[in-house]
Amino acid sequence: MLCKYVTNNNTLIVSLGRRLYSSNQSNIITSYEKDQLTKLPFFNESNIETDPLQTIKNITRQKKEYLKKKNDIVESIIGINSNDPPYLSYSFKGLPSMYDTITQNRIHGRLSVTKLMTKSWCELRYAYDVYSKMDKLTTRNISQGVTFHKTLEDTMIPENVKLDQFLKEQRIIGFEKTLQCKWIDTLQKLLMTFSNVGECREVLCHGYIINQIDSLQDGKFVTDVDIGSNMDQLILVSGIIDHLKWVPRWGNESHSDSKFDLFNDIFNDEEINNDLPKILSSLQREIPKRINGWKLQVRDVKTRQTFNIPNQTSVQRSTKLQIMYYRKFIEILSLNPKQTYKMLIINAQRRNLDVDQELDSMTIIALMMQNPMLIPDMRRLRDGKSIGFESYDAPSYQLQKSNIPFVIPQDIVSVEVRESFKEFVTIWKRPVTLRYFAARLAQTYHLLNSMLSEDLLVEYYCRGVNFHNLPFRNNDKQLIDHNADRTNFLFGKREVQPIEQNLRNFLTYCKHCDYQSVCSWKHEGEEKLKELGNELVEMWQDD
Ligand code: SF4
Repeated sequence: MLCKYVTNNNTLIVSLGRRLYSSNQSNIITSYEKDQLTKLPFFNESNIETDPLQTIKNITRQKKEYLKKKNDIVESIIGINSNDPPYLSYSFKGLPSMYDTITQNRIHGRLSVTKLMTKSWCELRYAYDVYSKMDKLTTRNISQGVTFHKTLEDTMIPENVKLDQFLKEQRIIGFEKTLQCKWIDTLQKLLMTFSNVGECREVLCHGYIINQIDSLQDGKFVTDVDIGSNMDQLILVSGIIDHLKWVPRWGNESHSDSKFDLFNDIFNDEEINNDLPKILSSLQREIPKRINGWKLQVRDVKTRQTFNIPNQTSVQRSTKLQIMYYRKFIEILSLNPKQTYKMLIINAQRRNLDVDQELDSMTIIALMMQNPMLIPDMRRLRDGKSIGFESYDAPSYQLQKSNIPFVIPQDIVSVEVRESFKEFVTIWKRPVTLRYFAARLAQTYHLLNSMLSEDLLVEYYCRGVNFHNLPFRNNDKQLIDHNADRTNFLFGKREVQPIEQNLRNFLTYCKHCDYQSVCSWKHEGEEKLKELGNELVEMWQDD
């Protein structure tokens, strides 16, 4: 009824119309309703401030300065909307694509899964943020979230006092940030899930997509990488899985009483558990015989300030899709160790790392301390033996010679450490390079082949309490559609799609947005809503 008088086809008025007429059989707005109508925030001109930053009340000085700087940068790049000065334009014609802007200073393209979540909030906000190139302001909530993730991770992994002491004594800085350390960490965690711990946290995963030049994206993921071809179009997407946990086939609950102890004998056998390839081959052999319906579930941890889950559907949808990406990546990594080995090599190369660069003796000692299971492998490399992984044992790598002598300087290394590792002080026949770690990690991912559950879970925490779990099913079709749509936007193949212009969105999304006071998309939307107010009043007067 009301909609036929409305010229700008706004969803708000449709719902408003329903409410206005719900208690009244006639088409006439009552005085009471008119009064209520004029009180609505978007008809109240005083709600629209002229000085953008004035609209944000109670912000700290630091935040105000941050917003001013960010808004100025975005304005200098995007410009003002000529139809709505002084508000920011929402047209990006002629500007570099999101992807080019994100990867501007990198030789090779790579993205993170979170960068694919362009509509987690509002895609326009995402675009402004990308062009601003400014990091998010580290709020108390963000730092509390990071600390909490770390706390959860630390509860599962005992402190490695020996390693920490060694790194401190040797003044080795940033060891944990090196790719070899991260890969060994992931390998160790994946193996840990098979022990009676039955779960692990903060696990690396990655996948590849192709930037389809001259065509729209199809959203598919690369399962077969061929080093050398299409390398310019191949884009690395990396992610970190918050939580992997075995769930029995009869349950999906986070607090299941079922104990995962299927491979305890393997982990308790000292002859096996001290040698990585022995553990890998024992698990590979025993998993199909013993797994009995258990599945490994991919989960994400969200920390909240209150005991509520987010009410924005876009946020929930993005969280679910993020988990689906992680699941897909780890599934692809588990398929074929030879392929995964190549994927890992490309991954390292995308980070501008030389996969054939020989590691020095102090780093090798630190890695053996990090994971003593590596020690027998280090003996194999020292003695020029194969490690039992075809791609790595290929003649071209088998013939690589070590050029750095393995030395343990007497003056700076403790007697205890020198004694423990003195067997390695010799000329090594094969060098230790990133290729070795790629090979072993590829084999470890392969243990998960066909083990991943289609049931996924979001865990919500507030003040350290897991107050809510949100289970949902994996959906490959939805994932591929999402990937196609978001990469089309990132590669500049479709326009930005901001939130719909309606009051609900302005209050739910814009209210928490850094651009709320300078955004012409929001401002124009508000103006339309005000016009709607006039139309309603005119209608009432006509009546
Ligand atoms: S103010 Fe609103 S419409 Fe504008 S970028 Fe922010 S969330 Fe999007």
